[in-house]
This record gives sequence, C-alpha cells and structure tokens, in this order.
Amino acid sequence: QAKSSGGNVYRYYVSGLQHHMAEELVQLNLLRSAIENNELTLRYQPQVDVLTGRVVGFEALVRWLRCDGTLVMPDQFIPLAESNGMLKAIDRWVLEQACIACQRWIERVRRPIRISVNISAAEFGRPQLLKDVSELLQLTELPANCLTLEVTERLLIDKHLPVREALQSLHNQGVLVAIDDFGTGYSSLSYLQSLPVDEVKIDRSFVKNIYRSSRSEHIIKSIISLAKDLDCSLVAEGVETEQQSGFLASLGCGVQQGYLFNRPMSEEQAMALLCSERVRAKCAGGGAVDLI
Ligand code: C2E
Ligand code: MG
Ligand code: MG
Ligand code: MG
Repeated sequence: QAKSSGGNVYRYYVSGLQHHMAEELVQLNLLRSAIENNELTLRYQPQVDVLTGRVVGFEALVRWLRCDGTLVMPDQFIPLAESNGMLKAIDRWVLEQACIACQRWIERVRRPIRISVNISAAEFGRPQLLKDVSELLQLTELPANCLTLEVTERLLIDKHLPVREALQSLHNQGVLVAIDDFGTGYSSLSYLQSLPVDEVKIDRSFVKNIYRSSRSEHIIKSIISLAKDLDCSLVAEGVETEQQSGFLASLGCGVQQGYLFNRPMSEEQAMALLCSERVRAKCAGGGAVDLI
C-alpha cells in the first residue's frame, strides 16, 4: 500500500516536472523569436534631481511585448534568458537601443542626459561586453560619461569573474558603473573601497520602509555616508511618497527615481518630458519660449 502510493507520488512529481520543462521550452522558443521579431521594447524611467526638479537621466527597463498583446515584465523572462545563454543578445540589444535613444535626447535638448542600462552579472565579465560598449559608443556618438552600467552586488562576490579588469577598463573609457539594489546582497562593504565603482543605488526595499522601520533608516544613513566617503554618487530607487523623498534629500541623496516622479515611459514620452522642462525653464527665466 505504502509502496504503491509512493510510486504514484513519484510519478506525479515526474510528470509535473516534465510539464514544467515543456512549458519552459515553449517560453524559450517564443523568447528566441521575440528578439528576431522585434518584440522587445524599452521603457525609460526618469532620475530626477529633487533640488532643481530636473531630469538628469533615465534607467532603461526592458519589456517583452508578445504578439498576442501581453506585456511580459523582465522578472518573468530575464532569469529564463540568463539560464539559457540568451541574455547576451538581449543585453546587447538593450544597450544599443538605449544609447541611440539617449543620443537623440541629448541632440534635441543640448545638455548632458545620462542613460543607465542593467547588465546581468554573468554578462559583465565577458570581454565581448567591453567590445560591445566601445563599439556602441563610437557608433552612436554618445559621450562615454553619459552611459552608466548597473550591476548587482552578486557580481562583486563572484570570484570567478574577471570583474576588476572589466571595471577598470570601463572606467578608463569613461563609462560609469553603478551598484544596483545596494544593500540586498551578501557581500561585505569593503570591496567598494577597492573597486572603481561610481554610483550606488539604494534599493527600493529600504526606501519603502522609511518611517516604518528604524532599521531601514539606519541602513540608508550608513549607505549614504559610505558612498560619500568613497566619492560615489547616489540614486535612490522606488521613491513613492513625498515623505520618503524629503527624508532622502535631507540626508544628501538628491537624485531619486520612483513612481512619485514618473513611471517608466516610452522614448517619445521621455523626449516630450525633456522638451517640456526646457520650455518651462525658459519661461521661468523670462526668455522667449522656444518651441522646437
Ligand atoms: P531594477 O534595475 O532594480 O529596476 C527597478 C525596478 O523597480 C523596475 O522594475 C521599475 O519599474 C521598478 N520601480 C521603479 N520605481 C518604482 C516605485 O516607485 N515603486 C515600485 N514598486 N517599483 C518601482 P522592472 O522594470 O520590472 O525591472 C525589474 C528588474 O529587471 C530590474 O530591477 C532589473 O534587475 C531587471 N531588468 C530590467 N531591464 C533589464 C535589462 O534590460 N537587462 C537586464 N539584464 N536586466 C533588466
Ligand atoms: Mg537597475
Ligand atoms: Mg534596482
Ligand atoms: Mg530593485
């Protein structure tokens, strides 16, 4: 009796697993054709300097717009792509599109705008990435210091990746590197001291708990003071309320990103936002309104 029911459980488990694998295979094939069929699309979320109210840059966030009309968020396909070696193609595509878009904004508004691109840790160590980056900067004529690559702490603890060399080479080219979701990884903070990192992004989970947990406030305070000591710039992510924004600004974290300011938007919406700022600035300065 016990034996036979054990067998059933086992059989059930295997078929569940097979079902899961079959589903993943279907997804994978769809995703593969997504790149070829131009189903990937980028949204751009503004990073705002709260002291001046101006947009200083955007983070590029990928989405998969399937032909049946469903919009798939990155958390639902990036891990799949990563475990199947497809992330190189996605990262390369994202990097190219984002650089092109940013150069268009800069040409139009005639001031530096920055673009941040997420790069998965596994891709970061590849020499090809460095080649791609320098090629794309040449191709798009985007100034190197307008490009920031965002990587997570996971990268810094993986001893097998030639991270130091990659960081140094990007640094030499003038490209900036940000540590994304800072404080959520398992690494010690000391590595920051020894690596050429330019920016730290305070993770949404801490921002969310401002005024709810004194622990989060302490963590934010120490991240900010560490970043300042090391001459890293700071960006807070996931800012949703005026209170959170005020708290962060009072501690010296003036560049913020989150739903309080804007949701991720299309390239055209980003352009319109930048242009409307320009018109407002001219009005405020009393100059002629310049509608291009
Ligand atoms: P991330 O880099 O930490 O991106 C921030 C995420 O927080 C984005 O989700 C963004 O839409 C969301 N967000 C921004 N402001 C707020 C807010 O005020 N409240 C809340 N609740 N959420 C906010 P998204 O676009 O779903 O991206 C999720 C993650 O997927 C990203 O986390 C990043 O790790 C990864 N990802 C996105 N695009 C790419 C890409 O092009 N390449 C790679 N390799 N990974 C990507
Ligand atoms: Mg990011
Ligand atoms: Mg983040
Ligand atoms: Mg995050």
